[in-house]
Parts: sequence; C-alpha cells; structure tokens
Amino acid sequence: MATLPLSYPMSGGDGPHSYVRNSSYQKAAIDSVKEKTKEAISKILDFHNQPFKGEVFRVADFGCSFGQNTFDVVGNIIQTVELKHKQEKTEEEKIKNPKKELEFHVFFNDQPNNDFNTLFKTLPLLLSTRRCFAYGVPSSFYGRVLPRNSIHIGHTSYTLHWLSKAPEDVGDRNSPAWNKDSIQCTSLVGEASNAYRVQFKRDMADFIEARAEELVPGGLMIISGQCLPDDVSMVSTWKGVVIDMIGDCLFDMAKSGVTREEMVESFNLPIYFPNTSELEEVIEQNGCFRIEIMEEVKHPMEDETLSNDFIVSKFRAIFHGVIEEHFGGGLIDELFGRFAKKLTSYPVDFKKCRKDMQYFIVLKRYVF
Ligand code: SAH
Repeated sequence: MATLPLSYPMSGGDGPHSYVRNSSYQKAAIDSVKEKTKEAISKILDFHNQPFKGEVFRVADFGCSFGQNTFDVVGNIIQTVELKHKQEKTEEEKIKNPKKELEFHVFFNDQPNNDFNTLFKTLPLLLSTRRCFAYGVPSSFYGRVLPRNSIHIGHTSYTLHWLSKAPEDVGDRNSPAWNKDSIQCTSLVGEASNAYRVQFKRDMADFIEARAEELVPGGLMIISGQCLPDDVSMVSTWKGVVIDMIGDCLFDMAKSGVTREEMVESFNLPIYFPNTSELEEVIEQNGCFRIEIMEEVKHPMEDETLSNDFIVSKFRAIFHGVIEEHFGGGLIDELFGRFAKKLTSYPVDFKKCRKDMQYFIVLKRYVF
C-alpha cells in the first residue's frame, strides 16, 4: 500500500484541546486582513476579461484546517465577488438574464488526515446553499491538487511556514547540519539554518508553481502568514522562545526516561519562518504572477502580553500532530503539563523579544 506523505493536522474535533477552540490567534490575523482582502478583490479582479467568462466562480482555500477561520475567509471572498459581480453586470446582461445569479464552487484543501468531517458537519448556511457547492480536496498543496486553469481565487493563511518535511540533514547525526540541541531553526546562520532555508525555498517554489497551473489567467492568489524581518532570528521572537522551551521539556522527559534522548535529538519541527527577502525572491522567481500587494500587517495581538494558558493551548492544538508523528502517542499530556509549569517558572518577557512579522500578499496570474 502506498504511504501518505508526512502530515501534521491541527488537533481535531471540538474538545478543549481542538484547533477549533484554540485558533483565535490565527482568527485575529485573518480578521485583520478582511478589509484589505475585500479591497484587493474589488480593485484587482477583472470580470470583463479573464478570469471569468462562465457562470461558475471557483474559490479554493489551501490548508484550510476546519472551523470558523476558513468559513470566514471563504465567506468574505464570496460576498465580495457577488457584490462586485452585481455592480458590474452590464446593462445587456441585466436585460438578458435578470434573475441569473453567480454560482460558486468552493474547494477546501488540506492534508488527508485533516478533520474534514468536522469541517463539513459545521458548514455555515452561506456555504451550503444551492448556489454554493462545497468540496473537500485532501492532498498536499506542495503539488497539484486541482485541475489546470480552474480556480479564480485561491487563498491560504497561516500555512506556508509548514514545510513538506523537516530537512533530512538536520536530524542526521553524521551531517554537519545536525541540529542536535534544538527542535527548530533557531538562528540565521549555520548549516542547520541553511538546510531549513533550502527546504523552504524548494517547498515554496513548488507551492507557487502548482497554484500557477491551477489558477486561471488573471486569477488571484491571496496569501497571509508569518515571516521574520531580515535581521531577526526565530529564537529572538516570543514564538521561538516558546518552541525552545517545548524542546527543553522534551529533553527533560528524556532524562526522566519517558522518551529517549536520541528521539529528541533527531526531532526537528518542519516549520520555518522565512525572512521577507527570501519570501519575495521565491515568488518573483516563478515568473507566472505579478505581485499586486506585498505588505506587512500588524497582528492585532502583537503588543499584548499573552497569558500562559493561552500559549499552552495554542501550541498544543498546533503541535499535537507533529509530536505524535515522531514520538508516538501518549506523551502529549505530560509534555504540555511540563511546558505549563516551565512557563510559570520562566514567563516569556514579551518586551525583550524581537517581533516576528505578518504578511499579506496578493498575486495576479499573468495572462500570457
Ligand atoms: N488556514 C487555517 C489553518 C492554518 S493551520 C487558518 O488560518 O486558521 C495550518 C494548516 O495547514 C493545517 O490545517 C495543516 O494541516 C495545513 N497544511 C500544512 N501543510 C500542508 C500541506 N502540505 N498541504 C495541505 N495542507 C497543509
């Protein structure tokens, strides 16, 4: 039997540790670009040339997870497109087809072990009407997941820091890139960080290339997520500090015999926050898109001192899958119990940490 590629879904269901109940940080980021998304679609989408000639408008959310975040994103896109379509209907169309309204295909993409059941059970009214048809697309977005020339607006948020895998070298004790003492890409220099950078560039290039094929000429790709200013290393941000602390808890657990030290040494998160220039470079290299918007946005919680409970729940919902994939089941409760205790003893000094960055990007597929 063919094995599925590695994937690390967010915590499923709707229990206390689920992504649904612990994704308000991502939700705040999505809300902060809601108006910008509307404006971009209104200004940049062009019905009268490409991309739209028929009556079915196709929207895809790549790495949708499940729950309110993806519904809000897709709902916002649909409402904006509908409004624009009504406003721009030509007089001739109004006379010919006074009642005809736009219909939508909405494609929810994520890895096959994402909780698609919860997603489809909780579809809001807007997305389950007879004018809006929802589909699940279970596959890695680092390859093609939809037919060529089929999507008018693609969207992805808080996804592209997830690599297709941790670079092999960083978990290999015989490699100069062996990342023995940490579970993440901590710094800006060195072999390990270089291996992460190479993996990110390869993955991001694959993502952009696949979307270039799936989008219709003139179609829009809206991307938001997290990166780092060029001179900031992951470990100097609060997120990096917290991830290192989770790594320390794993090493403590190895000392107590709950797991083995080699298991922790070979564990590396498949996560990389690119520097802004790396991000821009990969997009430009593809050559199929014009960068219409690429800007920094302020995360609404950027200046807040987040509570320890909030931090523990957020990271548990996100890392549950990836940690179980490497260590097997059974250590999550203990790990996050230890993490909560460590955070109480060593609270994050948010004022001392450097800031990571949120980006908002809108690409338009060239009409060659
Ligand atoms: N977009 C949602 C979810 C972000 S969490 C939001 O903004 O709230 C990141 C999601 O990306 C997870 O659901 C994870 O499974 C998905 N993901 C990560 N790598 C992926 C890949 N290669 N292909 C498809 N989905 C992926």
